[in-house]
Amino acid sequence: MRKPIIAGNWKMFKTPDQAVSLVNELKELVHQDQVEAVVCPPFVDLPGVLQAAEKTGIKVGAQNMHWENEGAFTGEISPLMLTALGCEYVIIGHSERRQYFAETDETVNLKVKAALHHGLKPILCVGETLEQREAGIAETWVEGQVRKALADVLPQDGEQLILAYEPIWAIGTGKTATADDAGKMLTHIRGVLKELFGMEMAEQIRLQYGGSVKAENIKELMEKPDIDGALVGGASLKAETFSRILLF
Ligand code: PEP
Repeated sequence: MRKPIIAGNWKMFKTPDQAVSLVNELKELVHQDQVEAVVCPPFVDLPGVLQAAEKTGIKVGAQNMHWENEGAFTGEISPLMLTALGCEYVIIGHSERRQYFAETDETVNLKVKAALHHGLKPILCVGETLEQREAGIAETWVEGQVRKALADVLPQDGEQLILAYEPIWAIGTGKTATADDAGKMLTHIRGVLKELFGMEMAEQIRLQYGGSVKAENIKELMEKPDIDGALVGGASLKAETFSRILLF
């Protein structure tokens, strides 16, 4: 039985004080352990958020990391730094990083391997553009991204890896993929994971949908057999909207 996991990607929003206030509000609203709740604030907010989230059941993740432990990489953060803080999750390969910061399938693969090596759970993001969907190549494209990101990867168990299908045209646009389309893509992805890791492990890996998720559409999405959760951007920035998603 896979435990649902809903993660908030705060992107480049919230100062450290605002971030702590948001966690404090959230913990007042969400008292349940049926769903694993994760928040992914900007790096500078992590210490305060980790402290505020302690003993609340709310888990904390980063939005990115470098794959090396340390080195002359100005502006980067390493997996060692994240584990030293106490982070459990890290988003890897978000489409905004691929689009604006030149992340490639190769660097995404290095990051996934480094995260697993350090005991961080990657939330690996994949997804197609609108042009690719309209050209009928969405499944092939996403499958290629999954295979490249997971080349030479072998998680010890399926709970270590989360995969988020986020069609780029649905992120921050208010357009959500239909539950049928999202469910179909995630079933396809689980099929690829079965080929890569075998049936047992693939059945343990939790798969999320991301792209304009809100309280109004989460229930329908979660009814699909291969949707185990969501990666939520805009609607995770307010305790009121994120808690309604978490309590779907
Ligand atoms: C995201 O940033 O991963 C995302 C899905 O954003 P939004 O929910 O705002 O579309």
